[in-house]
Amino acid sequence: MEAWREQLKNQVNTLEKLEEFIHVTPEERAAIQALKGTRWGTTPHYANLMDKEDPACPIRRQVIPSQSELANNFGMEGYLIWKENRSTAERRPDAIARQYRDRIAFAVTQVCGIYCRHCFRRELTIAKDLKLRLDIDEGLAWIREHPEIRDVLITGGDPFLLGDDDIAYVIDQLRAIPHIEMIRFGTRLPVVLPQRFTPALLDRLRGYHRVPIWINTQCNHPKELTEETARVVYDLLTCGINVGNQAVLLKGINDNVAVFRALHQKLLNIRVRPYYLFYCEPAPGTDHFRTPLHKGAELIRDALRGHTTGLAQPLYVVATNIGKIPITLDDRLIMREGKKYVLTNYEGRTTELDAID
Ligand SMILES: *Cc1c(COP(=O)(O)O)cnc(C)c1O
Ligand code: SF4
Repeated sequence: MEAWREQLKNQVNTLEKLEEFIHVTPEERAAIQALKGTRWGTTPHYANLMDKEDPACPIRRQVIPSQSELANNFGMEGYLIWKENRSTAERRPDAIARQYRDRIAFAVTQVCGIYCRHCFRRELTIAKDLKLRLDIDEGLAWIREHPEIRDVLITGGDPFLLGDDDIAYVIDQLRAIPHIEMIRFGTRLPVVLPQRFTPALLDRLRGYHRVPIWINTQCNHPKELTEETARVVYDLLTCGINVGNQAVLLKGINDNVAVFRALHQKLLNIRVRPYYLFYCEPAPGTDHFRTPLHKGAELIRDALRGHTTGLAQPLYVVATNIGKIPITLDDRLIMREGKKYVLTNYEGRTTELDAID
């Protein structure tokens, strides 16, 4: 059996299996009991990164259920329906989520390598109370009929959990559509299941094509980045695939300056370009992961901008039903004074620029 299939077969999704990796606390045990009937679990690869003793470990907190998930004060019922405009006039297959004119998200599966407790698709991936019919051919047919779509973001669940043939099929079918200019994948597998990127799969992905592939992965803490992940990123790049990161701002996990800076520096160190930092979305059961809205902008100001390599800076956004909205604290950095602008740098020093009106 291929190593990645073995990882999935040995998924750590019972108390007994979890106890092989860590000393489970009474709180974790109670939460696993209380959340029976919902999905949870992680690959052994990711479970190996857990701290055996520390329940505040950033790896543990991202995958082990917590009783806080039951205290839902701010989560929005029916979040995904609202967020993905599934109740609007335009009729679309369940696999297609649309917020923009020229691009869509195309969900091809609802299974994942790990089940992130902060997932904004929790209703689909974890709670399983949202039933969607994710039919690939229905989605492809819709895309063919919509010439305004030039960019398809393949998502899930995790699209790289499809078999090699299915992945190649979706790519080939999309590339055959004249109005498609680029294909993107959102996948956590480079981080949580690097074994998935076998030589056989890489061969199906590699090459110079009219329609390029871009991948964005999700890494939220520097501890998640291993030698295996670094290798996969290199392999993808040598196939002609660009690799970016979409981090989620998570309270107690990456919301401090030192961790936040280390995460973004380490991403560049393994050739991954930070793309977005997401505010943790108000899906039901995720209150305990959310910070104040401006926290992400403060972290970019205090940990990254000017303090380290410019390439390390993601754009901080809040994802909404009308698209992603950038959140910045930049207003005060550019002040107009008569015929000049006064520009302020990261240390508070100022300089001037003539204004042209
Ligand atoms: C995030 C998203 C996209 C892609 O947005 P970009 O800002 O181009 O990365 C497209 N469609 C939907 C529904 C999305 O949620
Ligand atoms: S891998 Fe993505 S879709 Fe799956 S649980 Fe994590 S955030 Fe959600």
